[in-house]
Amino acid sequence: MFVPFKEILKDAYSNKYAVGAFNCLSLENAMGAIQAAEELRSPIIIQLAEVQFPYSPMEKMAPVFIESAEKASIPVCVHLDHGQSLETCVRAMKLGFQSIMYDGANLPLEENIRNTKEIVRIARALNVDIEAELGKVGNANSEQDNVSDIFTDVDESAYFIKETAVDALAIAIGNLHGKYVATPQLNIERLQEINNRNRLPLVLHGGSGTSFEDFKSCIHNGICKINVATAIQIAVTNKLEKYFKTVSNPNYIDMKYQMVEASKEAVIEHMLLFESNGKA
Ligand SMILES: [Zn+2]
Repeated sequence: MFVPFKEILKDAYSNKYAVGAFNCLSLENAMGAIQAAEELRSPIIIQLAEVQFPYSPMEKMAPVFIESAEKASIPVCVHLDHGQSLETCVRAMKLGFQSIMYDGANLPLEENIRNTKEIVRIARALNVDIEAELGKVGNANSEQDNVSDIFTDVDESAYFIKETAVDALAIAIGNLHGKYVATPQLNIERLQEINNRNRLPLVLHGGSGTSFEDFKSCIHNGICKINVATAIQIAVTNKLEKYFKTVSNPNYIDMKYQMVEASKEAVIEHMLLFESNGKA
């Protein structure tokens, strides 16, 4: 069933767990993710990022997401991850996405605020919720000189939230996008400061390689949504590799089944970690 983003996050915030937001690039990913959520009785966010449109076009994936959400027996939110322009965000709203992440984190603060405000204004009229980002989430595959320079600033977070009135804020506390080479160390102290100041649901991007301890500290200190993309892709790739190695007569239907299973397993693993099981 469709449940608004804000409501899903509000419950997570009050009960100190996080809802997994899983990037689904295919029908198999979406099927596996929803099956996992139903099996664990967990709320779930299924999402797609703008950079993924070349191989998983939003217009083609939207009907899959929306039908999955409508038919599911647990709360589902259909979300646009990393919308890079006003145009993309509005297109997603028109397609029926219930919440949008507008990513202006690479822009100067005032420009990020200006753009986010404009998107919030349109979203309010259409009953769509908004996530924005402040600070820079790095990329696991690129070199960074001083990671602390890009952490979300506490004062800036309060100013940004007051100006934009967003429903959730993605923060940078040492988390990285992509497949980690080494497990990152998150700045939990900074997270606590941001949480104490704002009391707004916070979002952690780059949830594919964070340590068990850091995940636990995050969900108990205001992180209500954790994005997981790479972990599903790795799980599917590994499962298929094993399938082709062990099965003498591979066929396409079996292969599709393996893809759904691998997606489901990866989602289950993260939901248990985020403690969202039994919360639906
Ligand atoms: Zn992200």
